[in-house]
Amino acid sequence: MKKPIAGFSKLSKSEKIEWIATNYTQNPKQSKKILESYWNTDPRLQQLHDEFIENTISNFYMPMGIAPNFLINDRLYAIPMAIEESSVVAAASKAAKFWGDKGGFKTTILGTEKVGQVHFIFKGDKSKLEEFFRSIKPKLLTDTEHLTNSMVKRGGGIKDIVLRDKTMELESYFQLHCTFETQDAMGANFINSCLEQFAATLKKEALNHSNFTGEERQIEVVMSILSNYVPNCLVRAEVSCPIDQLQLSNDILPREFAEKMIRAVQIAKVEPYRAVTHNKGIMNGIDAVVLATGNDFRAIEAGAHAYAAKNGNYSSLTHAKIEGDIFTFWIEIPLALGTVGGLTKLHPMVKLNLEILQNPSAKELMEIMAVAGLAQNFAAVSSLVTTGIQKGHMKMHLMNILNQHAATDEEKTSLIEHFKTHMVTHRGVLNALENLRK
Ligand code: NDP
Repeated sequence: MKKPIAGFSKLSKSEKIEWIATNYTQNPKQSKKILESYWNTDPRLQQLHDEFIENTISNFYMPMGIAPNFLINDRLYAIPMAIEESSVVAAASKAAKFWGDKGGFKTTILGTEKVGQVHFIFKGDKSKLEEFFRSIKPKLLTDTEHLTNSMVKRGGGIKDIVLRDKTMELESYFQLHCTFETQDAMGANFINSCLEQFAATLKKEALNHSNFTGEERQIEVVMSILSNYVPNCLVRAEVSCPIDQLQLSNDILPREFAEKMIRAVQIAKVEPYRAVTHNKGIMNGIDAVVLATGNDFRAIEAGAHAYAAKNGNYSSLTHAKIEGDIFTFWIEIPLALGTVGGLTKLHPMVKLNLEILQNPSAKELMEIMAVAGLAQNFAAVSSLVTTGIQKGHMKMHLMNILNQHAATDEEKTSLIEHFKTHMVTHRGVLNALENLRK
């Protein structure tokens, strides 16, 4: 029977390891060895990682690959991608190469506005609340000056504060709906600090507001927090070319391919079961760059999927059209990113990846990531409407199966050659490995 532990966080790292290995693993000695084998050999670097989170016992590795040859707004990029799923980096690289000699990817920043809200309960006369809000709005701004001064100098800060009546949805519920520009920071800490100050000012000023009586003075702040729904922090990336240049393989004519791509996107627009997987494929590309650049993938995922459902039904984040004889494929996606703050200047690998990306601003990183998502989607959908994805996917997955069964380098070379002309299935690889070992 397992027992809860008190004071786990106070234990030393080796005590934590001892406890988890002894109480939750079958072979504590072996478990400790695995955990320690993932420590960095440089103790200072390990300490840095230990201090990113709480109760750290080891590091969790993820492969990092490079997708080269991305021509974005006439500038060439090699994109670092951290992801565990095989075939994602290959697909991105393939799409980059395909579009590289067709003018590459073009992007536009459609907005960079971030959002935060103070959620509060007000029991009283709504028109008095509106008058109160108008009277304290300048004070809300001056009370946060100590927080916003340096952001304002960079060209950012608080854009606006609006009082929203949400009482139709929930009794006595109002919000301060606030918008921000946070320049090269994702802005979570900046926004949350401003919001908590707004909340304090709101409560304090209500207590002394001459027009309020009784309960009206007791504004109940429920919470103050940024929103990861950022529909106005938006980037568009697109590729386009004359249809006759869409010669992906000899098996399909360019026009037929273009029309199938359009159909596939139309299906993802109207069918949520398909849309979720379609967008998951987009996020394969985006999340890999989000992770490689130390950004917050939970925030990006939440915001992207919410945007996909902005019209009330979950739909595709990419779009496609044929106009005249031009095929255009594009994405519009909200991405609240930072190239400063969070881990970006702390994690050595993140710093290196940002350098590989030519030290982008947050806006440039939005553009790069939108392109990674679009490229990924183009590669996935073009496979789906032609050969299907399993052929390419299983080929890439071959190495995982071989490693799972401890294939030697010699066995790998031989079987990679064999599966160039044979279909990869899990059973098929096992059979071939067994035959080889006979
Ligand atoms: P930080 O607070 O680490 O850094 C941002 C600060 O850096 C800015 O406020 C600014 O402070 C300073 N800065 C320096 N140079 C610039 C520049 N060029 N542009 C903008 N700011 C600059 O990070 P964030 O506020 O961006 O927060 C990101 C972190 O918050 C992530 O790790 C995320 O996981 C986490 N988080 C996310 C939440 C969510 O998504 N719901 C909730 C809570 C946390 P100054 O003006 O004072 O110099």
